[in-house]
Amino acid sequence: MKYFVVLEQREGVIKEASRDVWNAVQHFIQAAEDGEFYGAVIGAVDKDHVSDTCGGKGCVYIAEGAELLGYNPAAYVRTITELVAKTGAENVFIANTAMGKDLSPRIAVHLDAALVSDCVVEVGRNGLLKASTTMYSGAVAAEAQVLSNRAIYCMSPRARRPAKPSGNNVDVQEAVDFGIVGADPSGWNPVLKDIVYHAGKKDVAEAEIVVAGGRGVGSGEDFAMLESLAEVLGGAVGASRSAVDEGWRPHSDQIGQTGKSVAPKLYIACGVSGAVQHLAGINGAGTVVAINRDKDAPIFKAADYGIVGDIAEVVPQLERAVREFSEQH
Ligand SMILES: Cc1cc2nc3c(=O)[nH]c(=O)nc-3n(C[C@H](O)[C@H](O)[C@H](O)COP(=O)(O)OP(=O)(O)OC[C@H]3O[C@@H](n4cnc5c(N)ncnc54)[C@H](O)[C@@H]3O)c2cc1C
Repeated sequence: MKYFVVLEQREGVIKEASRDVWNAVQHFIQAAEDGEFYGAVIGAVDKDHVSDTCGGKGCVYIAEGAELLGYNPAAYVRTITELVAKTGAENVFIANTAMGKDLSPRIAVHLDAALVSDCVVEVGRNGLLKASTTMYSGAVAAEAQVLSNRAIYCMSPRARRPAKPSGNNVDVQEAVDFGIVGADPSGWNPVLKDIVYHAGKKDVAEAEIVVAGGRGVGSGEDFAMLESLAEVLGGAVGASRSAVDEGWRPHSDQIGQTGKSVAPKLYIACGVSGAVQHLAGINGAGTVVAINRDKDAPIFKAADYGIVGDIAEVVPQLERAVREFSEQH
């Protein structure tokens, strides 16, 4: 079997979600004890960074070019599908980020492959890959085994992150040496503008601790309370769709079915009711804490710990307690 991981980078740094996919897939190979392993980073990235990031074995191609500087779906799809076809990989993996969600169906169409989205993959008892996913916004758990010759797996993040594989037998090569150019012959470049929110701040999808706010926060200004708690915890702030629709937070902070899937070790939901569409984005979270003044709010059913109270009182108390704890330890 041949395995291929698409590694997403931002400003020359491979995203944590992609590292997790790489590490997870390296572990499948150890379990399956055979297989050829490939990866691709699209855009300008340092070779040493790729070597340092990707442990285990295999070959990672770097594809650079003027059309590949920003996220250009047409050029990205062309480059990735050419690489996959040339390596002959049957199993393609990509992280379930905004870019992964956009790219994976396009790649599947171009390669005439099956697509399993928002899934966790492992090797089944019969030695074949088994993908677990949810349907209807998390209401139904499903298992998929792909029967077609080629499959694309868009892999969700998980709170328990796969360890970096031991050893470093990864060869890093320029894709151009492999005969891949990546240019879109039409020259069409659909990237009109890059919008960067909260530059330098932790991405909610990659944070180990997330403090999420919903409509119950009350206003954009009141999110400062959540920012402050997130800062002492070393985490990031997320939001429900209602908070985003109100204009209190940017869409890049939205968690859920039409936002990001997150997998922090600790998720603190403040004034979030717990609609299925929101819960669909926190399937991979470790410990869930909910703060809500309505004791019957559905979020409590998804929570490991619940605090019934007003966030304006509870959040500052929580922050004080964290500060005191950090000072004493
Ligand atoms: C197709 C589709 C896709 C969707 N995608 C998403 C998605 O990706 N993400 C998402 O989040 N939603 C999504 N939604 C919307 C979703 O259905 C809910 O409407 C939304 O999640 C509700 O947001 P909320 O919990 O912040 O607000 P509300 O439902 O209004 O809940 C606010 C909560 O705050 C509590 N509260 C109020 N004041 C306080 C206070 N002072 N202290 C403590 N608690 C307080 C209330 O008791 C209540 O439980 C989607 C909906 C559809 C139809």
